[in-house]
Amino acid sequence: MRSLVLKIDLHVHTCYSSDGITTLREVVAYAKRRGLDGVAITDHDTVDGALKLLGKTELTVIPGIEITTLGGHMLALNVDKPIPSNLSTSETIQRVHEAGGIAAAAHPFTFFKGWRSSDITLNFDAIEVINSAAFPFSLSTHLGRKLAVRLNLPQIAGSDAHYGPEIGFAYTLINADPEVDEIVHAIKKGRTVPLGKAIPWRLRLKRAALNFQKRRVNNCL
Ligand SMILES: [Zn+2]
Ligand SMILES: [Zn+2]
Repeated sequence: MRSLVLKIDLHVHTCYSSDGITTLREVVAYAKRRGLDGVAITDHDTVDGALKLLGKTELTVIPGIEITTLGGHMLALNVDKPIPSNLSTSETIQRVHEAGGIAAAAHPFTFFKGWRSSDITLNFDAIEVINSAAFPFSLSTHLGRKLAVRLNLPQIAGSDAHYGPEIGFAYTLINADPEVDEIVHAIKKGRTVPLGKAIPWRLRLKRAALNFQKRRVNNCL
């Protein structure tokens, strides 16, 4: 099969994340509406939503997880089991690799949830240089790109959507066949172009209001 340029949002949460409100059906609907070829489902510390979506859509679904580590949030792509939280950066990366996945530093320069750049090592497979939820967006993106260039690591982008309409605000163009293994290999080789913009504040506020309602009724289906 000839390689294609795939448009994939590599950082999407579902209602399986404690702070996400997007149902799996909505993930598919919004991804298609945005013209994406696929999504990586990266819920906080669980792969349950990602595994549920596998094989249920013609979109390419990369099973993943966003792991809370002692250094910061880490994206693991192509893993089908949870990786323990609150371990050191190097141990977490090692566990991701043992599970057959690749590890990326998520939103390295966002306020409050960023990384110390000294914690980001060459053991990472990629840096998330564009994250649509990062604040302040332009500065985070600028510093992320600079860091990735300095370390010569592949650059990826994702929306960090926790609400359906936020999906696709950032995505990664990847030169690969539409198979998960091929995509992950292409990311490791740096065959990526990160693109995207910030999630508008009106959507963030709407999400915050809906998230409050979800907490009250807890109707994640
Ligand atoms: Zn995060
Ligand atoms: Zn996230």
